[in-house]
Amino acid sequence: MISVAIDGPSGAGKSTLARRLAAELGYVYVDTGAMYRAIGLYGLRAGADLKDEAQVTALLPAIKLELRYADGAQHILLNGEDVSEAIRAEQVGMAASSVSAHPAVRTFLLETQRGLARQNNVLMDGRDIGTVVLPDATLKIFLTASPEARARRRQAELAAKGVDADYDTVLRDIRTRDDQDTHRAAAPLRQAEDAVLVDTSELDFEQSFAALRKLVEQAAAKEG
Ligand code: C5P
Repeated sequence: MISVAIDGPSGAGKSTLARRLAAELGYVYVDTGAMYRAIGLYGLRAGADLKDEAQVTALLPAIKLELRYADGAQHILLNGEDVSEAIRAEQVGMAASSVSAHPAVRTFLLETQRGLARQNNVLMDGRDIGTVVLPDATLKIFLTASPEARARRRQAELAAKGVDADYDTVLRDIRTRDDQDTHRAAAPLRQAEDAVLVDTSELDFEQSFAALRKLVEQAAAKEG
């Protein structure tokens, strides 16, 4: 099986790039952020203090996550409800960042993530795929961009959805999430030693896509 780990900070374009790459190459795209987001959403709805490890851990036995694939898109079901849209809210991203700092949450998801890579050729994106989830991945990519470039893209994305977001607020949220993700004790965001660094600050979507596609094709060819 071929596994490609794509890690990096939020807003670097991981999911958009990985989704299209997986579709073109016939791999299964696994968006691990969606799993953390679904747990974050459950916690928000339950009114829990998401920074409190004991409170969040206590919720886990009531949570059942399922992944379904329809037309190449990953759908995530939280206790049977398709929450693929609901988890995209800004607030749920922050909630995901809070719950993902708790080791019990990470352990809860680890086996599911590894199991997917055992059974399929995968492109898996997240924060700790190359460092923790798939340390023996065929290829590891660390995809990043400056906070300013990521904030500009995020603002444009929101504008396309008709949401008029303030640039400074978007930038501040990105920095907060980077800080939380990089400085937590459990599986912090960092580049694996054997990961290839791709900085998309100065690249447009097509250029970023071409760079990634080349890396994946080279690695797959080597694998035979
Ligand atoms: O990638 P996305 O923005 O959807 O991820 C939401 C949050 O989930 C991240 O900010 C991060 O805290 C957490 N996450 C993680 N490990 C992963 C994927 C996401 O901790 N493998």
